[in-house]
Amino acid sequence: MTTNIPAAGPLAGLAPGAASTDRIAWIKLSLILLPLKAPISDAKVLTGRQKPLTEVAMLFAEIESERGHHGIGFSYSKRAGGYGLFAHAREISPNLIGEDPNDIARLWDKLVWAGASVGRSGLATQAIAAFDVALWDMKAKRAGLPLAKLLGARRDSVRCYNTSGGFLSTPVEQLVENCEASIAAGIGGLKIKVGQPDPMADLTRLDAVRKVVGDRVPLMVDANQQWDRPTAERVGRALEEFNLVWIEEPLDAYDVEGHARLAANLVTPIASGEMLTSVAEHLALIQHDAVDFIQPDAPRVGGITQFLKIATIAEQKYLKMAPHFAMEIHLHLAAAYAHDTWVEHFDWLDPLFNEHLEIKDGRMLVSDRPGLGFTLSDQALAWTVDSAEIGKRR
Ligand SMILES: [Mg+2]
Repeated sequence: MTTNIPAAGPLAGLAPGAASTDRIAWIKLSLILLPLKAPISDAKVLTGRQKPLTEVAMLFAEIESERGHHGIGFSYSKRAGGYGLFAHAREISPNLIGEDPNDIARLWDKLVWAGASVGRSGLATQAIAAFDVALWDMKAKRAGLPLAKLLGARRDSVRCYNTSGGFLSTPVEQLVENCEASIAAGIGGLKIKVGQPDPMADLTRLDAVRKVVGDRVPLMVDANQQWDRPTAERVGRALEEFNLVWIEEPLDAYDVEGHARLAANLVTPIASGEMLTSVAEHLALIQHDAVDFIQPDAPRVGGITQFLKIATIAEQKYLKMAPHFAMEIHLHLAAAYAHDTWVEHFDWLDPLFNEHLEIKDGRMLVSDRPGLGFTLSDQALAWTVDSAEIGKRR
């Protein structure tokens, strides 16, 4: 599938006009390997497709303009891909030097054309995402506004749910403890991983959680794409009695037709979209009524510019939204979305930043800090395995 971008015709060569008043002067790229406290497994590991996750590779882009404005953005990769993201970002980064940092859409097109040979989705655009997020961060900071406010916020807080406590590598006794801790921390929902080769094992785990949690917080489940169509239908029916907020990724991420059929057949809402890496792929899900909750991931789809296009399309179909991972970015985007939203609480990235998000009464609060509202910690610096500077600091 492709992403529509303007042709590299006469428009692409136009020099900036009088309205362009600032220039990108310096970029720093950092590849940070963030270790997890313990290896974690979802259904993809139990079906033998992946190894347990031990670290997350983070690509950070810091951008400074001639006028001294500063932005920071990131993209990421789980398991393979981090070094590739860094290499691609470094190769295309000189295209930004001397450009007006305000022209984010034009710069996204310029970067995607620079790497057009390796495509308009996947790793190529995930590398661009780090720049795109940094430019949005800079724009909001220049305006003195949290990003949510720059975009036009609809709320100052978003309901949040916990994912990090519910992995399949967690024994059921610990899982139940994690659920209690999450509720005590004020997190508004709990997501439990399912999709084991034996669906009965999933139902037993979920039953244990429901018994302890009762109706205190809403529950979701996530099968991480590991059911086939008949299994999803059968387990989906068995799950109806749990009154779940959604069933996430019941099928292969690209099985649009299968998701559409399941969404039509089940009362429980269907959620998917985290694995998709372009607007066009999300468009296919949305157009085919394949999901009730759309789950875009800004770093994966190429950044905030692309995420906003997905949000606009999803809004027209009255979809609910639950962006995937990266709550530091998605809190702002969920706060600006038209319909019902959830943001996914992961504490994994906490050590990378000096600032932390506040949670109250089940909701994550948009802070009054300008931009995304984060600065890199000393720990982030210590975990940096490669870095590159392009251009000159003021
Ligand atoms: Mg998921």
